[in-house]
Amino acid sequence: MSAHAVAPLAPLRSLLHLWRRSIQARVVIGTLTLSTVLALLAGWVMLRQITDGVLDSKREAALSQAAAGFAAAQSRLDSAPDIDPLDVGAVLNPLLDLLAPRSEAVDDYGIVALGPASLTGSAAEGGLLEAGLQFDAEASIPQDLLEKVRSTEGSWRAYTSLHPANPDLPTQPALVVGSQIRVPPSVDQTTGRTYALFYMFPLQEQRDTLSVVRSALITTGAVLVLLLGTIAWLVTRQVVTPVRLARSIAERLASGRLEERMHVRGEDDIARLGLSFNQMASSLQSQIRQLEELSRLQRRFVADVSHELRTPLTTVRMAADVLHDARQNFDAATARSAELLQAELDRFELLLSDLLEISRFDAGAAHLDLGDVDVREVVSRVIEASSALAADRGSELTAILPATPCSVEADARRLDRILRNLVVNAINYGEGRGVEIQVASTVEAVAVTVRDNGVGLKPGEATMVFNRFWRADPARARSRGGTGLGLSIAIEDTSLHGGKLEAWGRPGVGSVFRVVLPRRAGGEWGQPPLPLKPLGVDNVAAVGAPYARFSGSSRAR
Ligand code: ADP
Repeated sequence: MSAHAVAPLAPLRSLLHLWRRSIQARVVIGTLTLSTVLALLAGWVMLRQITDGVLDSKREAALSQAAAGFAAAQSRLDSAPDIDPLDVGAVLNPLLDLLAPRSEAVDDYGIVALGPASLTGSAAEGGLLEAGLQFDAEASIPQDLLEKVRSTEGSWRAYTSLHPANPDLPTQPALVVGSQIRVPPSVDQTTGRTYALFYMFPLQEQRDTLSVVRSALITTGAVLVLLLGTIAWLVTRQVVTPVRLARSIAERLASGRLEERMHVRGEDDIARLGLSFNQMASSLQSQIRQLEELSRLQRRFVADVSHELRTPLTTVRMAADVLHDARQNFDAATARSAELLQAELDRFELLLSDLLEISRFDAGAAHLDLGDVDVREVVSRVIEASSALAADRGSELTAILPATPCSVEADARRLDRILRNLVVNAINYGEGRGVEIQVASTVEAVAVTVRDNGVGLKPGEATMVFNRFWRADPARARSRGGTGLGLSIAIEDTSLHGGKLEAWGRPGVGSVFRVVLPRRAGGEWGQPPLPLKPLGVDNVAAVGAPYARFSGSSRAR
């Protein structure tokens, strides 16, 4: 989708964001919506009732006036038997004189009288006379009402638009009431005639009143909705402000500022929330302090013990070396014991040096000896050093190295240690199958993956492998001479560089360990140059030509 198509959605998205993030916005928007719906509903009901009320009273008055008028006209005709029913003027003029509005109320209503004509004919054909308001009777009286009045006895009414005689003026709403009036047969006529009489009552005044009422209702409704929205905003602010304060203090606590506390005022629910929050923070603070102290003591203990063990160990080592060198002079059992002693002392020294290294990390005493290092060279060195072990286990080591240098700012000794650990582990847990070491780089970082096709890792183990002394199979690890500290040291070494060490594995398929180091120690880097999870996990065949098969020394730190 293009940026132009997305742009109009931006306000909607920010509104959605606001809706999701802010309780206050939700309450205010909800109140505004609901109160608008309510105001519209109430306004509509009120307007209907007022309209009915206003129109009803006008209609009642109009109908009774029209009824009286029709009765008066009929009785006038009944009492003048000598009128010629065909003389329209003689019939209607006196009636119009009788019914026409008085001059001071000339705009109140109008009268239209029609002479006898065919029922379907237009008003004018029957002879049309009018009094009162000046309007276009022909256009103003609805045709169906006209026909109804002509054909049926009784009075009929309809709402219509009054067309003023001057076509430039606007039309007005009006009520038309019509009725037949009969002219009795005169002396020389045998049949009478039927005339039609209409009252036109303009409703403009009512319409004006109603439009004033409508705008008053709209204004009141809008003001009410805005007031309700403002009230909702003010009320929620009282609750939301302390909650937001609590949130920011909780965030500061989480970032390690354990002495942060909420400001408590009053005794209401919010104040009690603040009190509970502060109690929780104090309790957490004291527990964290206790744990820190405990952990410090533990670390100190480990560091001290490791140091203290070094001196006797050196003496024991010297004695053991003497015994080991002279083992040809011993009987077989004693010679074997001398060899075992030597091997276990190697392990002991390794464990002790690992423990001392971990203590240095814990004490924050680990420092980087930075230099420009070509990762390809380190990998080659590590492969060479691990080749004897690989040959012993029957594993083939394969390296996929870029043609150009992959230099990073790193501590060469630590980088060597990290990679050696990963490669030795891959050989140890690789079940004698191929191990592939790949190096790749971007402008920001260099990555190394060490992939084996051995026992692999069960779900959850990919993070546990970095825990101190954690081993998937302690008996097996011990028989291979591992201390269970190798990966813990490797991850600390990687973090010191501002890099990342991660693992992926699947039981029976193999494992991948990936180290990503920034080009500049501690620098930023985005995408890792190599994926952690292999693309075709079932295809475990090593990619690329075998780098070399080596023989030589095993793991060294
Ligand atoms: P160790 O000295 O036991 O190798 P590490 O810290 O190097 O200690 O490794 C911890 C544990 O992680 C090992 O005991 C093993 O269970 C597991 N592990 C390490 N590397 C691999 C690997 N490549 N494949 C499977 N499991 C591994």
